[in-house]
Amino acid sequence: MLKPKESNGLAIEKITKVNAKDFHTPTMMLTYSFRDNNPRPWLNIPNISVMTNAYDILRNGRLEKRIRENGIHKELGLKNEICAMDSGGFQFISRGEGEEIDPNKVINLQIASKADIAVGLDYPILQDFSLKKAEDLAKKSISNIKLANEQINNGIEVMPVLHGINPEEIKQYFTKVKKIADFKIWGIGGLVPQMKQSSTSHTRYFNIIDRVIEGRKQLNSNSEDLILHLFGVGSPLAGLLFLLSGADSIESISWIINAKYFLVYQDKIGARKVSNKTTMCTTSVKWDQYCCSCPICNNANFEEIEQKMKLGGNEGFRNRAMHNAYIYQQILVEAQDALKENRLIEFCKEKLGEHRFFKGILKYTLKKLAKYSK
Ligand SMILES: [Zn+2]
Repeated sequence: MLKPKESNGLAIEKITKVNAKDFHTPTMMLTYSFRDNNPRPWLNIPNISVMTNAYDILRNGRLEKRIRENGIHKELGLKNEICAMDSGGFQFISRGEGEEIDPNKVINLQIASKADIAVGLDYPILQDFSLKKAEDLAKKSISNIKLANEQINNGIEVMPVLHGINPEEIKQYFTKVKKIADFKIWGIGGLVPQMKQSSTSHTRYFNIIDRVIEGRKQLNSNSEDLILHLFGVGSPLAGLLFLLSGADSIESISWIINAKYFLVYQDKIGARKVSNKTTMCTTSVKWDQYCCSCPICNNANFEEIEQKMKLGGNEGFRNRAMHNAYIYQQILVEAQDALKENRLIEFCKEKLGEHRFFKGILKYTLKKLAKYSK
């Protein structure tokens, strides 16, 4: 039975040696895609960790060559920040290229790039897959974890990814994978396809919370020190609930996606539109509650901020993306402080207790955690 500290849920502050660096958790990784003219927030904002993707790199010969020669950290301008490299299994599968990927190619790139964390090449099971296809892919994912574990031994941590549509499946997957090796860092995958669905019903979040708590429980059966990473959490406000449920590291690409759709993130509120150019049916920024000291908003009045955020083209996009990344990191830093002061639950109540959507999920999470502490 899990015994969470009543005030912090299942969250614990940790420093884990990863590739000879200190990996401080809880953390919020920014997913970085090489495809666009994306800004690099870590050049301005300290202590950000980054999730890159082998799929992007393997599609761009010149980029791949540079990364193989100089390493991923130099390519991105990272110093001591932790840089993970996802395999791109999700991207390959989504584009129907799943069968053709050579796992050796991905592993070879992960080694050459000197990424700190190499995510095992896994294949997300999409809902329209036949049972046979799903089984084949699940077997392939497991054998790829074995392969990565055998081949990667230059200090890089291999992160296996647990799949399952419910807690029981997560448990079974964990039981299989833990026979391969004592991994330090574990992922839970399969969240992105769910998060992408247009309706944001509570039950979908409840299911994710259940799987995170189960993942934590399984990891803790080996050691509390093991790190649980959660792929594709969408909103950082939702991310807080996943931290509370025992995830150490959460990751989101929504800082970029929101920026593309002219959405800026507002603390305690969520993504809001700054321009009618967006196709998203989202309500506008609440300027009466707007408060931000990011490099873009700092020292500017609301009119100036609105002008910067409304800009079209690359300049406006970069402004929104930088602001979003900053707000995400700000929320995370506040959560880290709350955890240190043993008041993470209280902090989540402050952030989400009045939120029209997340308050219900907060309530569910607290109920679940209370069950465990009994
Ligand atoms: Zn800002």
